[in-house]
Amino acid sequence: MPMPENVKTSSDYPIPETMKAWVLGDPGELSPTEKPVPAPKKAEVLVRIDAIAVCGTDLEIIYKGPPALINGKQPFNQNFTPGHEYMGTVVALGPGVDEYAIGDRVTVEIHAGCGQCRRCREGMYTSCHNYGLNYGNVDKGHRANGFTTDGGFCEYAVNNINTLVHVPDSMSDEEATLVVTAGTSMYGLTELGGLVAGESVAVIGPGPIGLLGVAVAKALGAQPVILTGTRDNRLEMGKKLGADHVVNVRNEDAIEAVRRHSGGKGVDYVLECSGGKTGFNDAAKMVNRGGKICLGAFPDGEVGVDVAHLVRNNIYVYAIRGEGKSGTHRAAAFMEQKRFDATLIHTHTFLMDDLPEAIRYAKERVDDAIKVVVKNDFAQSAQEAAE
Ligand SMILES: [Zn+2]
Ligand SMILES: [Zn+2]
Repeated sequence: MPMPENVKTSSDYPIPETMKAWVLGDPGELSPTEKPVPAPKKAEVLVRIDAIAVCGTDLEIIYKGPPALINGKQPFNQNFTPGHEYMGTVVALGPGVDEYAIGDRVTVEIHAGCGQCRRCREGMYTSCHNYGLNYGNVDKGHRANGFTTDGGFCEYAVNNINTLVHVPDSMSDEEATLVVTAGTSMYGLTELGGLVAGESVAVIGPGPIGLLGVAVAKALGAQPVILTGTRDNRLEMGKKLGADHVVNVRNEDAIEAVRRHSGGKGVDYVLECSGGKTGFNDAAKMVNRGGKICLGAFPDGEVGVDVAHLVRNNIYVYAIRGEGKSGTHRAAAFMEQKRFDATLIHTHTFLMDDLPEAIRYAKERVDDAIKVVVKNDFAQSAQEAAE
């Protein structure tokens, strides 16, 4: 189907009627298919996907299912396209959209709230009460790309304008795919209090969110920033991103080391990004009395908690879902100002046709892979079409 009459397009960016898309079959099984290019509605644009990063959560979804929720069920064998950390070029405008222009480079947030539930009205669109209710019936308005609605392992995707962030010319496509990860770290620090200049922060777990959590905390002025983890190469990267101290928990006691590096009383804030079994209780013992903990990772199964320790010490606990409260815009501003170099965590690049290989690199951490980026080559496709 061509684009509807009320959708604005440009001959500079011809839009095909169908596109290449990867879909999830059985667990772990991605196969290439053709899908119609979706049309943007009110307050939406069509984004041509230029690059997308593979996230640890994509691996969870592709191999295990949750947290994706398609038609209220596991995401398998439902013609569902995963992938959520993408950036690209605006190529069509839905009715009434003048906030963005065709040709604008943008990166996207995952969650578009419905805009009509209580949480969305409060600005908490990543906690939308209509989460997951609208696969195939987009009228409810809520989207979570690659979680409850089709994602970005394809060529084109519709996005609400509230999920878009402008990408400056000085930022590469690869770096722009990392904005949403930095935005998630920023949301965690926002919940902890936001202005952390001169206060101490410990980050548990040097995955992408933890590493960029270090970078964002440092950019916000935190002092000291302490990173704990198990792998020296990741901890070294944490130092380059601003960690004042790193602790390899295989060699020393993490709680004792964090307390020692923060004057004996523990840190003001802990960002738990490991999802490990001991992460929460460790965080509670690293933080000082009256301090705050934010949980930003999904552990497997239930985790025991020392509640009495939390209560005795008046410790505040927060959990975040995704990149809320416009954290992405604030993280992008830091990145535009070169306050930290997110590209340090980008290790590999593949073409979209080679997605299964890209997923394998990310899953098996081949060649110390951290962030694997997958690119569409539209110049190449246009050339092939012309021949
Ligand atoms: Zn992600
Ligand atoms: Zn909502």
